[in-house]
Amino acid sequence: MTIEYNLNKIRSLLPSGVQLVAVSKTKSNEEILEAYRAGQRIFGENKVQELVRKWELLPKDIEWHFIGHLQSNKVKLIAPFIAMVHSVDSDKILKTINEEGGKAGRIIPCLLQFHIASEESKFGFLPGSFGQMFSSSELDKLKHVVISGVMGMATYTDDVVQVNKEFSTLREIFGKLKKDFFQDNDRFSEISMGMSGDYLLAIENGSTMIRVGSTIFGERSNIGI
Ligand SMILES: *Cc1c(COP(=O)(O)O)cnc(C)c1O
Repeated sequence: MTIEYNLNKIRSLLPSGVQLVAVSKTKSNEEILEAYRAGQRIFGENKVQELVRKWELLPKDIEWHFIGHLQSNKVKLIAPFIAMVHSVDSDKILKTINEEGGKAGRIIPCLLQFHIASEESKFGFLPGSFGQMFSSSELDKLKHVVISGVMGMATYTDDVVQVNKEFSTLREIFGKLKKDFFQDNDRFSEISMGMSGDYLLAIENGSTMIRVGSTIFGERSNIGI
């Protein structure tokens, strides 16, 4: 199957209001261009150096989304161009993105990543912890980020009941944050959840952004990257 075929298939299943982030990590510029020529403009990457190389060489109307764990010292490399950071997983990184956004003269859309999976390795705020870290007035001081919603990754499992529960937890977290912090803020509107194996279930649970890689580009070989 071609990349174009795969993209069109996924698009045909998306309700309006759900955006597709094509996760292109480890994939070549040629493969990304194939998706681009099929009309895809939003791409997701999880390594800063790899992203910067791709951004330099690929068309400038691509919207790059960062979806991996971000280290503070690397924020400055992506701050000038990144369209959204999905993976804000600490107060420290949020403040750093705000600082670097300021230096770049930008306001950077950010999603708060929550740990909803049962696996230990996944990053993110614990449900409930964000409210203890920030008050509304502290958030108001961050002028160079706009907190646009939440992101989460479900457990990698065939257990549909479990994945469903995790997605619905993320939606509840979104609702609670909206009520506590962002009631009058229209920009707090995104729930980034759903990958190749579970995006339909994520959409049923209210996802507004799915992040799909291998179903579009084929399996990744994780060697030498
Ligand atoms: C790799 C990755 C994806 C895409 O995974 P696929 O299973 O290939 O669709 C989505 N989100 C994050 C955070 C990722 O790292």
